[in-house]
Amino acid sequence: MQFLSEFLEQAKACDLYRRTVTCDPVAPGHVRINGQTYLLLASNNYLGLTHHPELQQAAVKATLTYGTGSGGSRLTTGTHPLFDELEPALARFKGTEAALVFNTGYMANLGVISALAGPDDVIFSDEWNHASIIDGCRLSRAQTVIYRHADMADLHGLLQGTVCRGKRLIVTDGVFSMDGDIAPLPAIADLAEKYHALLIVDDAHATGVLGPGGQGTAAHFGIKHKVQVQIGTLSKALGAEGGFVAGSKELIEYIKNKARSFIFSTALAPATIAAALAALRQLSAGPDMVNKLSENANYVRSLLQAAGMPVPGGVTPIIPIMVGEAGAAVRLADELYKQGIIITAIRPPTVPCGTSRLRLTVIAAHERDELRQAVETITARARQFGMVVG
Ligand SMILES: *Cc1c(COP(=O)(O)O)cnc(C)c1O
Repeated sequence: MQFLSEFLEQAKACDLYRRTVTCDPVAPGHVRINGQTYLLLASNNYLGLTHHPELQQAAVKATLTYGTGSGGSRLTTGTHPLFDELEPALARFKGTEAALVFNTGYMANLGVISALAGPDDVIFSDEWNHASIIDGCRLSRAQTVIYRHADMADLHGLLQGTVCRGKRLIVTDGVFSMDGDIAPLPAIADLAEKYHALLIVDDAHATGVLGPGGQGTAAHFGIKHKVQVQIGTLSKALGAEGGFVAGSKELIEYIKNKARSFIFSTALAPATIAAALAALRQLSAGPDMVNKLSENANYVRSLLQAAGMPVPGGVTPIIPIMVGEAGAAVRLADELYKQGIIITAIRPPTVPCGTSRLRLTVIAAHERDELRQAVETITARARQFGMVVG
């Protein structure tokens, strides 16, 4: 068992040691740890829906009506009536014929990609795609060809130059989880059309965030009809838990019959599905929440940039503050923690070596004043670390 301690010591020595931290989520955007309240600039609860009374009441009511667990997989006895409401609601939200819920977004990627691709096929995958996409590609046993991040010339060359006996698939994050940039979807869709490739977009960070009413990346670009397979999560902006895939009736029927992470896992609890349904109702009530999120994101990004912080341009609520070395990122995050602000340091292997950063996220529930104060604190501490350009 010596490899255990060797691995752990090595991780500590390289500033790559990871641990879980218990925080008490007292309100959207705020947590309490050991009695002290912190401003949370590190959550994917983009719309603050986790604490919305409608969602909370829906979850309680579903628990009282149907119980705490589902007791079976979806294809046996786990499909409780709320699934029959949520899946059509997701399809309406995404503008597709049908949708299918998985237990997590991770499991949706694993199941969908490995169901659609096999050993004869070739998957073209952006180098910055989420780990669950990478694992889905591996599980499929298809040949996976990695193209440089958002580089359409590279993707084009690889599509042209790769011999393929079976199907071609292109898979990309809609919004990239660590940099918050948006995939160049119109260009990707054109290439997919030209090379008869199936296009899969993972909208984990775009669902409820991007496009009219938060419908996602394809809707943002007005090309919903060009993306055959849209994946999303219920656990970020929608404030619940679970993943989903949306597409044609036939696609959904196929995946239901083939995706092992759908077939061989117990269905989500009634409370979770009821919360997701209530979240969709909130989204369809009007664009205010999504607009507030986008305003907050623009506000923080422009304040940081004006202060000379190393923050790339963008429009999503994911705002990376580029630091470089893992140790420096961890020390800056620790220092901000002492000041009552939580921003996660992101290090290899999640991001490439030398690109460690603080991944700051804003949510719709944050107030302008607290965001402005936080930016002042971040800037002052970063300056002490010799980081600021401006
Ligand atoms: C978070 C995330 C997932 C996984 O979704 P979960 O519901 O948290 O399992 C998948 N893809 C991307 C891009 C993500 O950021």
